[in-house]
Amino acid sequence: MSTVQGRLRIAVQKSGRLAERSLDLVRDAGLRVVKGNNDLLYKVENYPIDLLRVRDDDIPTFVADGVCDLGIVGENVLEEGKNANPSQEGANASVVMPLGFGKCTLKLACPPTLDYAGPGSLEGARIATSYPKILRRYLEERGVSADIVVMRGAVEVAPRLKLAAAICDLVSTGATLEANGLVAQETVFESQAVLIRSPAAPEPGLQHLLDSIIERMAGVVSSQGAKYVMLNAPRAALDEITALLPGAGAPTVMPLMGRDDAVAVHAVCQEAVFWETLEKLKAAGASAVLVLPIEKMM
Ligand code: ATP
Ligand code: MG
Repeated sequence: MSTVQGRLRIAVQKSGRLAERSLDLVRDAGLRVVKGNNDLLYKVENYPIDLLRVRDDDIPTFVADGVCDLGIVGENVLEEGKNANPSQEGANASVVMPLGFGKCTLKLACPPTLDYAGPGSLEGARIATSYPKILRRYLEERGVSADIVVMRGAVEVAPRLKLAAAICDLVSTGATLEANGLVAQETVFESQAVLIRSPAAPEPGLQHLLDSIIERMAGVVSSQGAKYVMLNAPRAALDEITALLPGAGAPTVMPLMGRDDAVAVHAVCQEAVFWETLEKLKAAGASAVLVLPIEKMM
């Protein structure tokens, strides 16, 4: 790969659980992504930006080293790859913001046959995981010394193969644990995808573009699930009705032509608006309730 001059680079997972949502975020921020003839690099045709498509494990290093200016990666991977002592070993990438997808939990789990009564039950036991650093820190903080076996994948089969007494693995629905006859015991780390940025400055002249991409992504993330709600409310029920609007700041209240008893209410709801909410609004006297999607927010 020849080094590209005068462009920003964003590291995203090439394929896997975060790949699609990462690309969606980039597109929603207004970047037109075109596949190059090179699978590793996608180009953005309307800005001097490239997407570097790599294994997620490499993303924190690329961003920390300044090979990429931004990256999208799971907090679990970032945490596991962190330098314990950044002053000696080079600065880490820093988290700009959580992105609201890729949510999962690193959990300690064991077969029901293990008589589990807290992390202390794992003293001297073998625990299989792909996250040895996070697990070691967790156990150390609790004064437990265990034998950590590092496995790259299929961690959940370790107890059945008698490779380990317990595991520490990522869980989202818990179906994999259940299918392997394992019981989740402790939450070791809560994770979601995050936007990370490099401690190194971007190439000359690109700082403004970098700031604007970050601001746009923040807008995309905060408008996710947000809705614009419009309704008519009897003046007498205005307080009750505005209190029902989920995650709304100060709503806009406007007069209705020819009516003194009712007003129009417009509000941005930051949280999902469910049917139950609409039913409660109706019951409180609201009429002509409209819930509209928000495309962009800044
Ligand atoms: P790569 O080939 O890029 O190294 P991978 O196999 O390491 O991919 P994936 O399985 O695609 O990684 O998961 C990517 C990230 O998705 C995880 O690091 C984690 O942050 C998140 N994630 C969300 N739910 C889950 C889950 N149930 N199991 C594992 N990871 C999950
Ligand atoms: Mg990986």
